[in-house]
Amino acid sequence: MSQALDAPIAAAGAAPRRSRQARVRWGNRLVTIGGDAPVRVQSMTNTDTVQVIDTAIQVKELAVAGSELVRITVNTPEAAAAVPHLREQLDRMGIDVPLVGDFHYNGHRLLTEFPAMAQALSKYRINPGNVGKGDKRDRQFAMMVEAAIRHDKAVRIGVNWGSLDQELLALLMDENAGRAQPLDAKQVMYQALVQSALGSAAYAREIGLDADQIIISCKVSGVQDLIAVYRALSRRCDYALHLGLTEAGMGTKGTVASATALGVLLQEGIGDTIRVSLTPQPGEARTQEVVVALEVLQSLGLRTFNPSVTACPGCGRTTSTTFQELAKQIDDFLRAQMPVWKSRYLGVENLKVAVMGCIVNGPGESKHADIGISLPGTGEAPAAPVFIDGHKALTLRGEGIAQEFHRIVESYIERRFGGPARAAAAPAPTVEAGAPH
Ligand code: SF4
Repeated sequence: MSQALDAPIAAAGAAPRRSRQARVRWGNRLVTIGGDAPVRVQSMTNTDTVQVIDTAIQVKELAVAGSELVRITVNTPEAAAAVPHLREQLDRMGIDVPLVGDFHYNGHRLLTEFPAMAQALSKYRINPGNVGKGDKRDRQFAMMVEAAIRHDKAVRIGVNWGSLDQELLALLMDENAGRAQPLDAKQVMYQALVQSALGSAAYAREIGLDADQIIISCKVSGVQDLIAVYRALSRRCDYALHLGLTEAGMGTKGTVASATALGVLLQEGIGDTIRVSLTPQPGEARTQEVVVALEVLQSLGLRTFNPSVTACPGCGRTTSTTFQELAKQIDDFLRAQMPVWKSRYLGVENLKVAVMGCIVNGPGESKHADIGISLPGTGEAPAAPVFIDGHKALTLRGEGIAQEFHRIVESYIERRFGGPARAAAAPAPTVEAGAPH
């Protein structure tokens, strides 16, 4: 049925899903996950945990980039023994980001035999597919959950289809084969992922783990599979959900696949903490996965981390790369300044800058930004109007347009956001601030 042309058009926005709220602590740092907390960003190191200094440096880089939790591999007694030293090193460096231990196969032993490690971590990731087989499975899973209860830590029950509980999968396949109308194999796999996670969560609660301290993930590497599984999970439980596309891949492919899957689910209110599992390209920083995660949340309007720079793609109306260079310079400049500006200029992360290539969309887009510039396209007069708060403020001409615009942006920030320093206005928070989702 068609609607009248003047019918109101509702604004788009992420639908709320009210989940339980987990609390992950280190010292005075409290990171809430789920409930009314903002969607959290997390990441994982790729250093050998035994190499304490290398790992501490990477944890710091990830935390400074915006990761609110950092996961580390705890795979051997040597790695377990290194964890308290890593935590001390980070504390000495002033990095209080909570650490999450990633356990497979031997986590029950490590968490029991290395209590200092169990205490230095703030959260444990348990993979129900990798805790043991047969009658050992429940006993070893229970040992890990008991360690979490003893040390008052949150637990992520993290199922992955690459290490799915094979006994459960075989059982569900057998049951399916006996149905009058069997489901296809993929649907049985979805069931196995969800049942593995929720069955393990139910068992953890039987052992005595607080339901609020349970976070669930069911990671797969296909976009449509992830959407199907998380929609089912979100309907069947109220645990906080950790969302991520596993083994997303490298570069553009990994970035687009992750952003697509996470974007669909977050828009439906599904996902309380995210990780983007990018394979770094040779020479690429590990922090790229954090950069992408922040961009996903900011693009959806769920959180704001950095000023945004809108730039047109350029076309046949622009024969020079001046506007591309200017857009990049401004973007780099704003990002580089943010660590200092965050405490000096309250709200600066909401700044919107536009750098446009010609008169077609330049003035219009610039007016929508806080501050925008429309550079001259081919054949246009060599003048660049600058718009501030929606109004044309001045026109730049000549060789120094880039430097002049740079200066105008700086003085705008000083004027608009240069109130009392945030640090002086309030004591150091113990709960991280952020917009609810
Ligand atoms: S604003 Fe101008 S230069 Fe940029 S894409 Fe549009 S028409 Fe092309």
